[in-house]
Amino acid sequence: EAGRLLFRRETQFLKGVVAMDGLPPDDRIEICFAGRSNVGKSSLINALTDRKGLARASNTPGRTQEVNFFTLEHLYLVDLPGYGFANAPVKVVEQWQALMRAYLGGRANLRRAFLLIDHRHGPKPVDDEIMCLLDKAAVPFQAVLTKADKVKAADRDRTRDKLRETLSKHPAAFPEIVITSSETGAGIDTLRGVIAGLN
Ligand code: GDP
Repeated sequence: EAGRLLFRRETQFLKGVVAMDGLPPDDRIEICFAGRSNVGKSSLINALTDRKGLARASNTPGRTQEVNFFTLEHLYLVDLPGYGFANAPVKVVEQWQALMRAYLGGRANLRRAFLLIDHRHGPKPVDDEIMCLLDKAAVPFQAVLTKADKVKAADRDRTRDKLRETLSKHPAAFPEIVITSSETGAGIDTLRGVIAGLN
């Protein structure tokens, strides 16, 4: 119920930034979404906010890596650049890491990061890397499994258990995992409720 109330008003795109000096003032609480490219991050943000096309897929490795800010009632919703592109140039990876370190370590108003993991595949080494960044920056994070509608029965428990085990090694991780599908809407209200409960 609280989740629906929070998301009843339109989420607005505020700005995209490529460097820390472009960040909006930290005058309201903030949540962010991170995940490998193609994990379903744009689809999830669009499903959460009920606005198709609000968040755009970022699956062009050459594209400028932007941190996109949206306003939603009393909070900022932040879409972090996707990571883990196959064959990404070293320079692009380094830029991403520098931006992530600066952003995660520099936002006093950041209440929680949501780390998206494809339910079919489970966590990959690059996911573990960002979990380490989150630990270092002491940003509490919660894992969200995506594309639950697509996971094969044979993989469902295996990928979830592997994620549980990975999370147990990260002090900044919440043990609870939210299982979602932007396709069927499963877990979307649960995630809205989690976000509405933050203050
Ligand atoms: P992003 O790169 O992380 O922003 O990923 P997108 O949201 O663009 O999704 C990547 C691809 O996965 C697209 O083809 C989506 O249609 C598809 N996709 C995303 N979420 C789901 C889901 O929950 N279920 C299914 N079946 N496909 C999804």
